[in-house]
Amino acid sequence: MRIYIETYGCQMNDYDSRMVTSMLAAAGHASETDPRRADAVIVNTCSVRERAEDRVLGRLRQLTGLMKPDAVLGVIGCVAQRMADDLLSSAHGVDFVVGTDQYERLPEAVANAHAGSRSVSTRVVREQTYDARPSPTEASICDFVSVMRGCDNYCSYCIVPYVRGRERSRPLDRVLDETRSLIELGARDVTFIGQNVNSYLDGDVDFAGLLRAANDVPGLARIRFATSHPKDLSDAVIDAVAGLDNVCEHVHLPVQSGSDTILEAMNRSYTRDDYLALVEKLRARVPGVAVTTDVIVGFPGETEEDYRATVSLMDEVRFDSAFMFRYSVRAGTRAAKLTDDVPEEMKLARLESVISLQRSVTEEINRRLVGTVQEVLVEGPSEKDESLLFGKTGTSKVVVFDGQTATVGGLEPVLITEASAWTLRGTHAPGGGKTRAEKDLAGSGGPR
Ligand code: SF4
Repeated sequence: MRIYIETYGCQMNDYDSRMVTSMLAAAGHASETDPRRADAVIVNTCSVRERAEDRVLGRLRQLTGLMKPDAVLGVIGCVAQRMADDLLSSAHGVDFVVGTDQYERLPEAVANAHAGSRSVSTRVVREQTYDARPSPTEASICDFVSVMRGCDNYCSYCIVPYVRGRERSRPLDRVLDETRSLIELGARDVTFIGQNVNSYLDGDVDFAGLLRAANDVPGLARIRFATSHPKDLSDAVIDAVAGLDNVCEHVHLPVQSGSDTILEAMNRSYTRDDYLALVEKLRARVPGVAVTTDVIVGFPGETEEDYRATVSLMDEVRFDSAFMFRYSVRAGTRAAKLTDDVPEEMKLARLESVISLQRSVTEEINRRLVGTVQEVLVEGPSEKDESLLFGKTGTSKVVVFDGQTATVGGLEPVLITEASAWTLRGTHAPGGGKTRAEKDLAGSGGPR
């Protein structure tokens, strides 16, 4: 059958869609890029916010309107795990629902649906890490490998532990096998993903051990990882970032709030001072490290003082960049029992103000790179101007540059000539390669 997959949400969902594609291909099915021509349409869904779920339900209606009359429709991912029976009983024309631990059953669900029998498979499988899956058949220069699934942290606003289950780590050898396969297929930069990669553990191999093992994989130029939980960022992981040549100097470290009262209500398991001390230790141990974060404003009970604490923390830490959100109630989470008492317009005002603060900080940090030579892993032609190339620095900054002689997939020295909050611009500077000292000094945030 020709199968069309549409993906919403996080990197883990993108990764799962690629994994599901290889499972269906192993069962003899082909990928289809147009839902109107597909025999089966699968929507991989995100449940992180109510709006994300509403969007998916709206899209299901649209898809049923444009699919072939005999095509079948399936829902997978976090909404499937959370709302299985509603989806099947609803008027969305859904034929099968497969939860986040049951993807191996997809070929059967598609076949059954085509034979007229609708199905739901959402049983949680404690150990499920999909390590029997087929090896990847294609790769991008910058690619992803999941090292673990699920999360045990139960932050009070988050639905993930309820839809992705408890934490489980993939066997190290499977992670390395997949990484090697991607390198053979052309990848040069791999991000290890998981909801909380720092709590990775396979036997006595922890996340620092995984980074050390991956650092020796031939052909792997850059290693990145996301997402880290501050309570689990160990000295060993910090030492790995400091000492391993291929591990990038970038740590994504969600703080969420600068107020101890709100951090406690969020069940984040650290205080403002813990977080500041951790960032200080990280920067002392890894000079030039980029630190990025996630921030939520307008959490239930957030006073003006709590909000000011978030602003002052962002001003003190000076993150390289941040994902910023206003709180929205997530049915099924512990925080949903709290009164959502911050008015929407106040949430919006607080969000706009942290966004504008962060934009000016990011711009100032990027401007400090003008005149330096950055080592860029070249990913290909710039989308906006095909005569230019683009890539990323070790600190995850996007660089667009003029590089006729630069090699796609190669590490190239680029002289930075311009900077904005989003992009660095420059010219290829063969021979202008960066020294380790320049590498340490350039490209990061931190105090002025
Ligand atoms: S660490 Fe917290 S926010 Fe992140 S996935 Fe786990 S429960 Fe959700």
